[in-house]
Amino acid sequence: MNLTIPYHLENYIHGALIPPSSKSYLPNYNPATGELWNEVPDSNEKDIELAVAAAKKAFPQWSTSSNEFRFRILNRIAELIEENFETLALAETNDNGKPLWLSKQVEIPRAASNFRFFATGIMHFASESHAMEDHAINYTLRQPIGIAGCISPWNLPLYLFTWKIAPALAAGNCVIAKPSEVTPVTAYLLSKICIEAGLPAGVLNIIHGQGPKAGEAIVSHPDIKVISFTGSTRAGERIASIAAPKFKKLSLELGGKNPALIFADCDWDKTMDELLRVAFSNQGEICLCGSRLLIEASVYEKFKTDFLSRVKTLTVGDPLEASTKQGAIVSEAHYQKILRCIETAKQEGGKILIGGNAVKLSGRCANGYFIEPTVIEGLGSSCSTNQEEIFGPVITLQPFTTEEEALQLANDSSYGLAATVWTKDLSRAHRLSSQLQTGIVWVNCWLMRDLRTPFGGVKNSGVGREGGWEALRFFTEPKNVCIKIN
Ligand code: NAP
Repeated sequence: MNLTIPYHLENYIHGALIPPSSKSYLPNYNPATGELWNEVPDSNEKDIELAVAAAKKAFPQWSTSSNEFRFRILNRIAELIEENFETLALAETNDNGKPLWLSKQVEIPRAASNFRFFATGIMHFASESHAMEDHAINYTLRQPIGIAGCISPWNLPLYLFTWKIAPALAAGNCVIAKPSEVTPVTAYLLSKICIEAGLPAGVLNIIHGQGPKAGEAIVSHPDIKVISFTGSTRAGERIASIAAPKFKKLSLELGGKNPALIFADCDWDKTMDELLRVAFSNQGEICLCGSRLLIEASVYEKFKTDFLSRVKTLTVGDPLEASTKQGAIVSEAHYQKILRCIETAKQEGGKILIGGNAVKLSGRCANGYFIEPTVIEGLGSSCSTNQEEIFGPVITLQPFTTEEEALQLANDSSYGLAATVWTKDLSRAHRLSSQLQTGIVWVNCWLMRDLRTPFGGVKNSGVGREGGWEALRFFTEPKNVCIKIN
């Protein structure tokens, strides 16, 4: 199939690729080179109106189609993603700056898995029935809600976009989706894949543009009844303030400041290797990355020696090179923000143990946005470096002496997305898992997940849950039917 990328990307509305009604576009830069590589529709409420009209037209047929029909189409989308995975991975890397091998290994396969998982999931989805002895029987009908709005961020562009779209479609909803304007290309290519897969017109509409304009037009539209948003806590707050008075169903997957609790009895070498991924995968631009490493004081110095020697091996380089471990930061604005955070850490009294600087590469990447993996120590729990999300290759180290102190430091955060615990003590692992104030706890591992499990954070990391049955439930409206027997 033809997956060429035009200079002007287009919106996908009612089964067709069309320009934005304003005819205006936003620049999209390759962060590894700093070069403009295409322009993105700067869509507004008129484009959202067109998408809503298309979705309304498509809804009666799509929502009453058989589960098997929806399975076939969504599964075909998964196959086409797999068949075109090289093109998609390259587009993802050029948009986002992450190493190409990472796009190939994680991002694109997972986007295909998301479609396949929910395509097959809907074939097995069940609802509840409750018998009231011999008086009555209750059963729950789970019906599609209508039009869903799905808004996603730039860090795992196709992975997170499809993680919302696939369950919404599988459950029989029509969707209006907006990718981040910073990383729009894989979403554009997905439009072409959906056309090729035979997705009926209007079932999925992909609108590009800015959050405060196109995004808010989705959130505030009266005919869009359910919103699934992944992004920053700041934008989540704004979205909740618009959607809540309209009584929309809302799932918010927001920021994190995730702790890693490292005990002296952990499996040392495996833990060191894994922590490198926890801290610096995707340049630290994964909401689930651990950015606060809490280390038992008795092994703190040994930890520093062994961990920092591993950080030195993280080559910062051209994302297209197989040897590159750390690619580019997603945009100039985000690059500047991370550098400001490093300055703040220094002003707060932090000692930079390694990194702390921008990296100037030569050749093709001379104007790209690169930052050294950075490790800081000497900061207390309450300073902004340990409280605010940086979302880059910058982590802090803090020692603790007791399990209670480790827990107190870990929970001393307004966020509650994920935590990792590194210990061979099984009882401690269970104890901490139940007491950590996070939506996810990984013990001696990270980023492993059965897609059937619920996913999401607590506190300022969000509300609602995605993943598995939770997502299919979220995108349906439960209706109880009670039938009297006697
Ligand atoms: P962001 O600025 O909040 O943007 C996320 C998405 O929302 C983008 O598509 C953005 O559009 C749109 N948007 C922004 N303001 C909006 C508004 N007022 N109304 C409607 N839509 C709006 O986040 P980001 O910088 O792209 O992503 C990084 C953040 O996402 C981090 O905080 C990270 O922790 C979080 N994240 C969370 C999870 C999770 O599962 N909990 C996963 C990944 C990332 P524009 O791009 O046009 O602004």
